[in-house]
Amino acid sequence: MALMTGEQYEESIRKLKLNIYMLGEKIDNPVDDPILRPSLNSVKMTYDLAQQAEYEDLMTTTSNLTGEKINRFTNLHQSSEDLVKKVKMQRLLGQKTAACFQRCVGMDAFNSVYSTTYEVDKQYKTNYFKNFKKFLTYVQDNDLTVDGAMTDPKGDRGLSPSKQADPDLYLRVVEIRPDGIIVRGAKAHQTGMCNSHEVLVLPTIAMRPEDKEYAVAFSVPTDTEGITMIIGRQSCDTRKSEKDADIDVGNKVFGGVEALVVFDDVFVPNERIFLNGETEYAGMLVERFAGYHRQSYGGCKVGVGDVLIGAAALAADYNGAARASHIKDKLIEMTHLNETLYACGIACSAEGHQTKAGNYEINLLLANVCKQNITRFPYEIVRLAEDIAGGVMVTLPSEKDYNNPATREYVDKYLVGVASVSTENRMRILRLIENLSLGTAAVGYRTESMHGAGSPQAQRIMIARQGNIPAKKKLAKAIARIKEE
Ligand SMILES: Cc1cc2nc3c(=O)[nH]c(=O)nc-3n(C[C@H](O)[C@H](O)[C@H](O)COP(=O)(O)OP(=O)(O)OC[C@H]3O[C@@H](n4cnc5c(N)ncnc54)[C@H](O)[C@@H]3O)c2cc1C
Repeated sequence: MALMTGEQYEESIRKLKLNIYMLGEKIDNPVDDPILRPSLNSVKMTYDLAQQAEYEDLMTTTSNLTGEKINRFTNLHQSSEDLVKKVKMQRLLGQKTAACFQRCVGMDAFNSVYSTTYEVDKQYKTNYFKNFKKFLTYVQDNDLTVDGAMTDPKGDRGLSPSKQADPDLYLRVVEIRPDGIIVRGAKAHQTGMCNSHEVLVLPTIAMRPEDKEYAVAFSVPTDTEGITMIIGRQSCDTRKSEKDADIDVGNKVFGGVEALVVFDDVFVPNERIFLNGETEYAGMLVERFAGYHRQSYGGCKVGVGDVLIGAAALAADYNGAARASHIKDKLIEMTHLNETLYACGIACSAEGHQTKAGNYEINLLLANVCKQNITRFPYEIVRLAEDIAGGVMVTLPSEKDYNNPATREYVDKYLVGVASVSTENRMRILRLIENLSLGTAAVGYRTESMHGAGSPQAQRIMIARQGNIPAKKKLAKAIARIKEE
């Protein structure tokens, strides 16, 4: 099977025996849970769009491993054009879901593990590259969704993995067996874990020789014994479980999800190990994964931004302010910021280069500049959307009051904007802006923009490393005609 349909994907997740907890309860059926279901719908969209002729060029490609048609989310990028198409695909998905569609973390992990394992094997004669190609072929053949698991809980940020008071605060190998390893620890903030078939674990920071047991990369099915997912709480999440909830949810159909994922002595067979103790390669893996993931945000957040800009423009239409010059200017500013993010995503892709393993990597400096802008611009876009929406965005009565005959007339009469638009439609657009700015989608649009793929300082460190100030000094000296002593 090369491509799964959305329905087949849904059924495949339904068959997994996932160990999930949320809001103090064990969730035996995540697929139909009202809080989790929108997040599954977002991933499902990556399958649905791949079935449509209109999106075939963006959503699918040919595997370099098997020659078969595959979903682009399982692709090893074969050119700069592939990298550009990745960003365009992500913008499309952002536009269609207005949420985090979760499947890109795995794609970014594939590309970084592929090129890194190639280089580790060259030095150490290990089998990691072969192992990884076998795993990815299985992923491509079955069109699987894979959680990219990098971030450890990290405990005291001032201490290295092996110096932590609790040695499990970074995921580590606790036992080596003839047929595999036992790992213990956790990965925090795991996007889409409960909607994934497999989890691909990577180290979270560069490591020293004393951190040997922490320098580990591997994959296992998400329902492997010993894995527990504890779903993160999102602002306004229980609105989704209110009876007949619709308007108040803002985005009823789509959402994102994160989880704290515990690995309590999980067995990993030898053929699924992609790094085990080669500490000097942990940093390379982190840097490459982060680079790809920083590129990703130049697509997905831009697509969500498109929806937010559209919502703000509608809010202005609905309250009669659309013709005001400052409103027009604010929409221009939002567009300018959003397209600047897209320009960064496209630029770091177009300037991509081939790795030693053969797949394509983004321009790291430009990818880090892209993500640094992502840590700022969505906040400004949200600020402008809130300005245009007006205070009613946060003081709006609930749809229960709208549906209650005792209050409906008042809500209809006093919360209308222009006479030609229903109060209900005005409420719908205000709730969507609330959802993206402060509600469940703000997890993906705001705070993930800040911390996802690394907090702002992580990009500044990379920009400092890649910025090549000495070369720029030389340029200045040449122009100023300074002769070196
Ligand atoms: C919505 C969302 C989705 C995510 N999805 C995923 C995912 O799917 N997979 C995944 O692996 N990760 C994921 N992440 C995790 C993301 O990569 C981390 O949030 C990010 O790396 C920052 O780590 P932290 O959250 O632990 O922040 P912290 O480490 O607690 O950072 C907080 C602050 O402390 C500073 N700081 C931390 N350590 C140091 C230090 N040693 N020296 C100086 N300053 C320091 C940081 O710069 C920052 O300002 C996600 C995060 C979010 C918010």
